[in-house]
Amino acid sequence: MTTQAQIDAIRTKPVPQGRLLIAGEWQDGRGGETQVHSPLDGLPLTRIAAGDASDVDRAVAAARNAFERGTWSRMAPAARKKILHRIADRLEAEALEIAVLGVRDNGTELSMALKAEPLGAANTFRYYAEALDKIYGEIAPTAPDVLGLVHRGPVGVVGAIVPWNMPMMIGAWKLAPALAMGNSVVLKPAELASLTLLRLAAICTECGLPEGVLNVVTGKGSVAGEALSRHGDVDVLAFTGSNGVGRQLLIASAQSNLKRVYLELGGKSPNIVFADAPDLDRAARVATQAIFRNAGQVCVAGSRLLVEQSVHDEFVERVARQTAAMRVGDPLDLTTEVGAVVSEAQLQQNLSHVATAEAEGARRVTGGERILQETGGTYMRPAVMDRVGPGMALAREEVFGPVLAVLPFRDEAEAVQLANDTTFGLASAVWTGNLSRAHRMVAAIDAGVVHVNTYGGSDLTVPLGGHRQSGNGHDKSLHALEKYINLKTAWFQL
Ligand code: NAD
Repeated sequence: MTTQAQIDAIRTKPVPQGRLLIAGEWQDGRGGETQVHSPLDGLPLTRIAAGDASDVDRAVAAARNAFERGTWSRMAPAARKKILHRIADRLEAEALEIAVLGVRDNGTELSMALKAEPLGAANTFRYYAEALDKIYGEIAPTAPDVLGLVHRGPVGVVGAIVPWNMPMMIGAWKLAPALAMGNSVVLKPAELASLTLLRLAAICTECGLPEGVLNVVTGKGSVAGEALSRHGDVDVLAFTGSNGVGRQLLIASAQSNLKRVYLELGGKSPNIVFADAPDLDRAARVATQAIFRNAGQVCVAGSRLLVEQSVHDEFVERVARQTAAMRVGDPLDLTTEVGAVVSEAQLQQNLSHVATAEAEGARRVTGGERILQETGGTYMRPAVMDRVGPGMALAREEVFGPVLAVLPFRDEAEAVQLANDTTFGLASAVWTGNLSRAHRMVAAIDAGVVHVNTYGGSDLTVPLGGHRQSGNGHDKSLHALEKYINLKTAWFQL
């Protein structure tokens, strides 16, 4: 059980400068350094290396060398497994230190960060450590005069580009299965949240991951990320982030070496409440958490609340009450429910989404204003926006902030039509006491996950991936391994 005193004892610890990890050595970036500011108070936290295209070249070369050398790619699976478990042990042992560092970097509430980031990453490393020797080849059911063997091997060099929200959890979703299958990796963290991933890389090397197997190049997306995406010697690119950048990565692949590109992108996920929901009070509480935890900076956030007309007014009232009662502020305070917005730019973007929706005729029921400006941090009161029309920007575009769009619906058919009426298809939920309706909705909603009578909550055994413009491929579960495997057929004439 974490106590406030434990957190307070480490919350001001100096943060070491971040450097690049290339071929097992910590190095300066050739593009100089950038200053990291904390969203908690706007103060400088540390400096990190700004990698450039030449750093990416060196990192990819180191990854390729390590792969060819075979110290990891051809290591006995049982030995690989041991190292991945050792990494998980260290993440667990240092969980609080890592979580506090991450919160100072990106503003997520500590209670959420602790569970999802170091502990979530530890779970992920364990899951794929355990999986790696249960995945092997096949003998195809061919005619008797031939033998068809299907080999499963690593792909080679994986480029992983991750966002600033939940960087360690999402980073681990890519690193652990890629490493488990014997690949080498070049990781590009987000410029707004690199610190915990640098810590993870240090732990990996200290736990015996051979040099060059994991390389980390921090720096700007438009410089280091772009160079990685266009590199001719990267075999697979695994990305989580925005749709705009996802699009650029596909172009970069097409214009370079046709590397496989897997995209985990944004969402505008519908949370659909029918009047026959078993417990409207609980539904309202969960709906609030579903959008406002981590200040709405969650890809699967339930950002569109669709409510059946007959209970609309009463339900919005409940959600507004819950929202107004949420404790917003210092994310290192254990009682805080909504932490900081990651940056000033993101905060301004959130506020402008609220203003545009109001100008288009939506009703601001509660929140939507900047608060705690005297702290120097970037905080905002969560906003509930009612009477949002399906054509308004707030009903269609991802905010990635604490802004909830509420839309009423008349019946099941209209609920389905509204639910699917965006270009996204990441997550969703349906609240109903009618089992047949629940199954019909699961079938009709075009999204990677449909929650029933809850929102959020999953574990590593189930895949996470988007339909339509929310992406392709999957993180988590055994399905994620497919991204980091090449199949090879050996065909013997007997
Ligand atoms: P972003 O797309 O701006 O950045 C993501 C990463 O891409 C960062 O590391 C960034 O430096 C890099 N990047 C930026 N420009 C690049 C370029 N031209 N070439 C290569 N790399 C480049 O996203 P963000 O603001 O960090 O994260 C928020 C977005 O991520 C939201 O859209 C959110 O929905 C999405 N997200 C999706 C999931 C999911 O699993 N589907 C999970 C978390 C976040």
